[in-house]
Amino acid sequence: MSESVTSSRVIAIDGPAGTGKSTVSKLLAQRVGAHYLDTGAMYRAATLAVQRAGVSPDAPDAIATVVADARIELRADGSGGSRVFLDGEDVSAPIRTDEVTNAVSAVSAVPAVRSKMVALQRLHAVDDFVVVEGRDIGTVVFPDAQVKIYLTATPEARALRRHRQNLAAGRDSDFEQVLDSVNRRDHLDSTRTVSPLRPADDAVIVDTSDLSLEQVLDELAGLVQTRTGGAV
Ligand code: C5P
Repeated sequence: MSESVTSSRVIAIDGPAGTGKSTVSKLLAQRVGAHYLDTGAMYRAATLAVQRAGVSPDAPDAIATVVADARIELRADGSGGSRVFLDGEDVSAPIRTDEVTNAVSAVSAVPAVRSKMVALQRLHAVDDFVVVEGRDIGTVVFPDAQVKIYLTATPEARALRRHRQNLAAGRDSDFEQVLDSVNRRDHLDSTRTVSPLRPADDAVIVDTSDLSLEQVLDELAGLVQTRTGGAV
């Protein structure tokens, strides 16, 4: 996975959960006329495949086998977002359950899972202009991305966002539990051996704790304009 990939048409957006990354990435893609690629959805679909196969998140070899056989596809939804398919079935909703969220870090730490997803993600960017959102986009998937952004925020600000999203979606939510889950996932994602979550050396770090969505979007769009010489 170490080979360099020329990707002058990639905007990489990395960072932990709850920074507003998905919403901002989708809106940024619309604003600059790029496609949007949600790589977290792909790892979530892989996790759903593992769960449906009855395989434990602690069994890396069995996980690798299940994911090798799973057909995972992202397709544009026609309104700036994307939908994820597992073996032809639209699993965009079931990949958002707590069950999947709690197991996804373990599944995505398996090296064979990562190499398969990285290869798929690179295929999406061929001959395309894309905003790619994830954890290792600027460091591993597209190390030559034209613009690299790392969104961050305090754990409390991130947990509060997730908590409010849950309530708005009509899901039960307990702030302390959400905060625990955010901290747990950050720890697992940033301490795994393969492709740990960290900013690329040349990423611009944006702390969204005290910024509105509009403010973050304006800042990112400004960065893209500057880095691409106003070519978008
Ligand atoms: O972005 P989202 O929260 O949906 O990502 C779910 C999980 O997928 C992350 O917590 C992480 O474990 C994994 N992931 C990853 N690499 C990416 C994107 C997501 O390991 N590029």
